[in-house]
Amino acid sequence: MTLFRVALTFHGGLSFFLKSKKPTIERELTKRTSIKDVIEACGVPHTEVDLILVGGKPVNFAALLIQDTVVDVYPVSEGRSLLFPEDRLQVLEIDSFVADGHLGKLVRDLRLLGIDVAYDRDAEDRQLVKVASIEERALLTRDRRLLMHSAVRNGYYLRSQNPLEQTVEVLRRFNLGAAFAPFTRCLRCNAPLEPAEKEKVLGQLEPLTKIYYDQFRRCAGCGQVYWSGSHFEKLQKRIETIRARLTNDETV
Ligand SMILES: [Zn+2]
Repeated sequence: MTLFRVALTFHGGLSFFLKSKKPTIERELTKRTSIKDVIEACGVPHTEVDLILVGGKPVNFAALLIQDTVVDVYPVSEGRSLLFPEDRLQVLEIDSFVADGHLGKLVRDLRLLGIDVAYDRDAEDRQLVKVASIEERALLTRDRRLLMHSAVRNGYYLRSQNPLEQTVEVLRRFNLGAAFAPFTRCLRCNAPLEPAEKEKVLGQLEPLTKIYYDQFRRCAGCGQVYWSGSHFEKLQKRIETIRARLTNDETV
């Protein structure tokens, strides 16, 4: 096959992933290549791409490039413009996640808000891909290679390295702002919490806790007991900080 040229323009926030400052990248190809591979060769994981136009027409990731053409690549954007609403490639609302092993603080924040996040600090890449694909969870990571895996249908590349900013990023990307259910999920193991009678958890309590507290929740998974002690106030503050940051962002 003869050589052909493809000019890809990355719109909006996708320039974040490009090495060059210019939003348009030209590639020379010698054989038919899937659009997913061409886009990812530019550094942009498919999980970040919401709309692809080849010669002005919407296509999916499996589309093959075979001749000179112009490609426009769009990110997931808030309030999605009306451009080809039927041909969008990403799911906007997802409420279960799997996070890679470097994101412990983000995971804690999300679980604190009641959001379902599978997490194993020692998980290997292939386990993460497997959990994401079998349990239909969106993969959260700062490893873009991992997001390029074809078995990963939904995922998100965290832009910030700061846990608070990361939490806000996830809440916004997946429209989770209204889904808060604080103190309903175990911070340690992700299982739901259920109310527990005091006499059933007495054995797990410190002497002063036994005296001052009467309401308890217990994790259905690992048995961890939660009550509104001093740690509770810290957690409450964290929730307020996240909420404030989220609202702040929306009014900008
Ligand atoms: Zn637990």
